[in-house]
Amino acid sequence: MAVDYLRLSLTDRCNLNCIYCTPMEKEGFLAHDQLLRHEEIARAAAAFVRAGVTKIRLTGGEPLVKKNIVGLVKMLRAIPGLRELALTTNGLLLPELAVPLREAGLSRLNISLDTLNEDNFKRITGSAGLSKVLDGIAAALAAGYEDTKLNMVVMKRVNDAEVPAFARLSLDRPLTVRFIEFYPANARSARLGDALYTTAETKRLIEDSVGALRELPPEPGGGPARVCALAGAAGKIGFISGRSSYFCGACNRVRMDCTGKVYPCLYSPATHDLKDLLRGGASDDALADYLKKIFLVKSKYRKDSGTAGHVEMSSLGG
Ligand code: SAM
Repeated sequence: MAVDYLRLSLTDRCNLNCIYCTPMEKEGFLAHDQLLRHEEIARAAAAFVRAGVTKIRLTGGEPLVKKNIVGLVKMLRAIPGLRELALTTNGLLLPELAVPLREAGLSRLNISLDTLNEDNFKRITGSAGLSKVLDGIAAALAAGYEDTKLNMVVMKRVNDAEVPAFARLSLDRPLTVRFIEFYPANARSARLGDALYTTAETKRLIEDSVGALRELPPEPGGGPARVCALAGAAGKIGFISGRSSYFCGACNRVRMDCTGKVYPCLYSPATHDLKDLLRGGASDDALADYLKKIFLVKSKYRKDSGTAGHVEMSSLGG
């Protein structure tokens, strides 16, 4: 499958400290000179687009804590050939940023939220802030983004009991509520033990407690999510089953972390360093050619070629 989708992490900084994400022994954040600057991010993104990428999703850490994120979105939006610019956020800063980001050219938002209960929010994220995230979701819906998604990582004993309440959010809001299988990506998430709550279990719980799910046809460019709807719902329900079902053959994405490391596959520790080229005077053609070569060999990295436990989602972006 051709690579046309880049997940671009802007920072390792985050305003939350989630139990399944932030590194356990974090000795502070990466030094500033390790992080790509705005101009370097924009140049790298343009090289990805020259190499065939048409859609970029900004992530982190928390991308909205990146200094002058609105200015960076404007720079990226100006890249010729980029069809879609999207962003994944924990939503805390959306009440003030949803409108300026939309005006800067951001077209889609995914908002991560794992609980609707304030105590559980504190337990999962280490902070208060549920009401701000809920305000952020409302701000995103009011600002006119296309197909806003709410992403819940379902974890046994942590938030699986809240699946029906999340499913019900799709009844009266034009949101796609997506249930994501937990992945023991780093040492901290591995401490949660066998927290995987599979898509099959999630679906069964929704059908038993809320109502039947009608499968919808796959959306063009919709990625690995399977999409359904409850009867009469304003929104939709999606499932991302990275653990229980295998979608390497349909994978069209690559990732770059905030230090310029390119990851052809989330499940493989193999990386390629774009920062050295960016800082070493490589031409735009050389950057694009380097990426095209990575895209050509992407298919040799597969889910079964790596092991869990090596990925820091907080710098790579999930
Ligand atoms: N801070 C932003 C946010 O919260 O959406 C962007 C970065 S966050 C790392 C991106 C996504 O990765 C979030 O939806 C988060 O829930 C997900 N994620 C992080 N660690 C995960 C894990 N171990 N298993 C599954 N999803 C994970």
